[in-house]
Amino acid sequence: MKIVDINTLKGSDRHGSCIECEKDFAEDKGMKRIVFGTDQKRTIFLCDKCYHDLLKEMTKKRLKEMGVEICRK
Ligand SMILES: [Zn+2]
Repeated sequence: MKIVDINTLKGSDRHGSCIECEKDFAEDKGMKRIVFGTDQKRTIFLCDKCYHDLLKEMTKKRLKEMGVEICRK
């Protein structure tokens, strides 16, 4: 998985809209392009907020797999 900050790209690559909330790059300069594997077709775009939500979910899932329990007071 490769994560690219769209803001660092040039020209016609500076586009995309979030697959979660449909926000456009013009509205969110923190937009990320995420490429799964080496197949360029499996590319998704996520705005900054949805990207961080995804990271949180992945971290939670990973911790669960490792048998880590997150305790909150
Ligand atoms: Zn979003």
